[in-house]
Amino acid sequence: MEDCYAETVSTQVEAIRAGGIVLSETVFYPEGGGQPADQGVINVGGTSIQVTDVSVDHGEILHHVESTDPITEGDDVDARIDWERRHMLMRMHTAQHLLSAVVLDMFDAKTVGNQIHPSYSRIDFEPVNFSQKDLDRIERRCNALIEEERSVSIYEEDRETVVEKLPVGRSNLDLIPDHIDPLRVVEIEGLDICPCGGTHVSNLDEIGRFIIEDRKSKGEDIDRIEFSLDA
Ligand SMILES: [Zn+2]
Repeated sequence: MEDCYAETVSTQVEAIRAGGIVLSETVFYPEGGGQPADQGVINVGGTSIQVTDVSVDHGEILHHVESTDPITEGDDVDARIDWERRHMLMRMHTAQHLLSAVVLDMFDAKTVGNQIHPSYSRIDFEPVNFSQKDLDRIERRCNALIEEERSVSIYEEDRETVVEKLPVGRSNLDLIPDHIDPLRVVEIEGLDICPCGGTHVSNLDEIGRFIIEDRKSKGEDIDRIEFSLDA
């Protein structure tokens, strides 16, 4: 994603596949890194075709549709994402990075899993057992950082430099194939850097209020935090 705030693009249909449509350019985010795929529409002539899912298939971004009719290869189209849903996912994904960084900082516990949804998200941490008091402290810390209006930037950097800069335990770089270099990095000003391909808001203040909804034990030393956001 070059520009996380692009809602629409005028482009051409590059190919029609069994599973959907490939465009020359797109603003749709395919599922990955715990962030769900975008939804939206592809407009051709006067017809709107609903995009229900987006995936990467053999290196191509495939827009899943119920029927490709009346689209044919080479058509000029406008592709538009469901911006309200995407912006919610951007707020959630940035909140996930914030919470992961705060918990690493306060408890030395690593993020071992996460899933983002528009209405709530969750992160699994290890090794840790949170008390209610811990959760209150985490929530307060996250909201304090949001109120500081720290900026969020996305850039590419050599893998070697990222390895040197990365806080210990922040990211499982081993899971990112060696040939991916440079890496796309998401940085929260003065707090966190993390390699990530997802979409993010450009300032923490867009997250709104951060609310811890629940804590669940997912094993002896693994705790899950579920959280939501308020405008
Ligand atoms: Zn991420």
